[in-house]
Amino acid sequence: MIIADYHTHTAFSDDSKAPPKAMADQAVALGLKMLCITDHMDYLYPKKYAPTSFVFDPDIYFTELTALKEIYKDRLELLIGIELGLRNEPGTREACAEYYRKLCADYPFDFVIGSTHVLNDLDPYYPEYWETHSKKAGMRVYFESILENIGTYDMFQIYGHLDYLVRYLPKESSANASPSATQPASAFVPSDTRDRICGKDYCFSDYKELIAEILKKLIASGRGIELNTSGYKYGLPFAHPRTQILKLYRELHGEIITIGSDAHTPNHMAYDFLRARDLLFSLGFSYYTVYRGRKAVFLPL
Ligand SMILES: [Zn+2]
Ligand SMILES: [Zn+2]
Repeated sequence: MIIADYHTHTAFSDDSKAPPKAMADQAVALGLKMLCITDHMDYLYPKKYAPTSFVFDPDIYFTELTALKEIYKDRLELLIGIELGLRNEPGTREACAEYYRKLCADYPFDFVIGSTHVLNDLDPYYPEYWETHSKKAGMRVYFESILENIGTYDMFQIYGHLDYLVRYLPKESSANASPSATQPASAFVPSDTRDRICGKDYCFSDYKELIAEILKKLIASGRGIELNTSGYKYGLPFAHPRTQILKLYRELHGEIITIGSDAHTPNHMAYDFLRARDLLFSLGFSYYTVYRGRKAVFLPL
């Protein structure tokens, strides 16, 4: 059983209104034993999206979450994490690396996720990115940025939601979509071996070498990936990363894998965790990873 959700957001993130207490209450109600709050910090998030900035005051964050940790200590182990938005544009990259290095040295985060949320100064959540990049180029720029970021940033433990960009791909016309696009979102896909399994998708084989480099670099540096179940929540037939990437990670002897719902509201906490457990088992994993004080602990699935 999975007893820890290691990717969750609260109102400290610009895209969530959830009070931290409501998230803690939900974790207790679901029977989780560990909850790691990982709010967004996207230093130098492009000004064009103001007032959204994806930054918070770490002093207030620690004061509030430390108090909550104490209140819940007999029912739940609350951990204080962060999700850093990593950037690879020259100039921005150096400034972000310096800021994040200091932030992680100054504050005792239990767990640090590194994620890509901005590429070429554009948030691919918005259509502008896809108007200036073809689907193939857009996905390649994304994977290449990850490979670079792993080398630039050393303060994170796992790379967040590898391949989440697929959520925002412009939808293909139904004529081009494969028949399995009609598959219900809740259907379990035990072995994702096909290249394209829904209309909104990318070909794994186009990026396989690049993805293998990413995974090898993470493994070699003692870092890992997460199984982020928000793909299911978005109605995709796979989590992030897709099953083919998880399989490759396993083949490359990747051991470190955290599990997170990326919930921004209490009702999405631990989303489809039973399905995540089945998936990891089917791929030969028997443990998942949690962190305390940025030290990995392995728990049975
Ligand atoms: Zn993210
Ligand atoms: Zn997140």
